[in-house]
Amino acid sequence: MRGARLFEKSCKILRRILVALGASVVLGLSAPAQTILPDPVAGMEGEMGSQAGLDAWIEGFRPRALAAGVSAAAFDAAMRGVEFNSKVVERDRNQNEFSKTIWDYLDTAVSEDRVALGLKALERNRALLDRIEAEFGVEKEVVAAVWGLESAFGTYRGDLSVLGSLATLAYEGRRGAFFEAELIAALRIVEGGHVERFAGSWAGASGHTQFMPSSWEKFAVDFDGDGKRNLWGEDPGDALASTANYLRHWGWTKGQPWGVEVRLPEGFDHDQTTERVVKPVSEWQAMGVRTVFGADLPDHGPGSILLPGGHRGAAFLIWPNFQVIEKYNTADAYVLAIGSLADRLAGRAGIQSGWPRELRALTLEERRELQDRLGGAGFDPGGVDGRMGPKTVAAVKAFQKARGLVPDGYPSLEVLELLR
Ligand code: CA
Repeated sequence: MRGARLFEKSCKILRRILVALGASVVLGLSAPAQTILPDPVAGMEGEMGSQAGLDAWIEGFRPRALAAGVSAAAFDAAMRGVEFNSKVVERDRNQNEFSKTIWDYLDTAVSEDRVALGLKALERNRALLDRIEAEFGVEKEVVAAVWGLESAFGTYRGDLSVLGSLATLAYEGRRGAFFEAELIAALRIVEGGHVERFAGSWAGASGHTQFMPSSWEKFAVDFDGDGKRNLWGEDPGDALASTANYLRHWGWTKGQPWGVEVRLPEGFDHDQTTERVVKPVSEWQAMGVRTVFGADLPDHGPGSILLPGGHRGAAFLIWPNFQVIEKYNTADAYVLAIGSLADRLAGRAGIQSGWPRELRALTLEERRELQDRLGGAGFDPGGVDGRMGPKTVAAVKAFQKARGLVPDGYPSLEVLELLR
């Protein structure tokens, strides 16, 4: 009885989370593991495809799949009845989640409800996560945080046909080659009999920790020793171990934090706040940087200062494990969410500082205009693609400096208006 009540309560919490997320965070920023961020430019305009178009594309794709080792029988059986999914295309073209501010993202990604669910999930799976931590050298709270962001601890793994999503995205053109390669990997998984019900989220990621098919091939492990690398069943063991294996492969260092929230001193040179500037902790300390609680900085080797929400938001000293999490998803918001959720699950403090919540995120159109105008003013943004990558951030910094503003590199409306 008690178990049933607990379950009911967990479901209620989960429903609240999903409502709060509008399912968009789960399916958007957080779902496409392994650095698939929709490219905001190509294919924004133009006709959407159709079932007939997909069927014709599959015809053309067939010899390429066979050449890649998929048998004709398996191809025909698997691809029969694969449906064009216009929702997947919309999702891929939709820019809303990339117009989200980091604080809006973190509010849902590291909500109190998700922390509560995570503590329960951790408790329930403690022995399993301890074994994974011992074998792969990745802290259980970090593995659990990925699980929490990718599928709300296994409860929201996605129910779209992986083959349908991948075929639609491969055919539809944008990043077609990438999705075609994933589709071929997916067909090999099906042909190998590794999966019964191959369902996932919109970009073809599936299972408890939302692996892409090629990542299954490279990184999935059979942790429970039943002969299958099963990321899709109720038992999360293989999936969680696979995530730990993935993070270990990319260089996870056990015992090193992803980062720590810091306080910058008055008059700090904001030119230094970029992942490109790496200094020993002793140098940051000498420059007056302290933890957000005012303590001396812990020394975990050379690190960088990051201001993901500009100089009026929280500041972080980050270490190489931050870049390891980026291998799951390159968005700063995602990495911070994993790091912060892991901290909370380990009983550490969450992010303390506020954010400049009155600032709204720039739209895609505005981000492109910002880049266009930066280029026109002699500050090379590295292309006009709407992505606020390192070159654009550097260009914003240079512009801010030239205009006597705090050079934090944050692409605010204020910067855009000054450029206008
Ligand atoms: Ca297994």
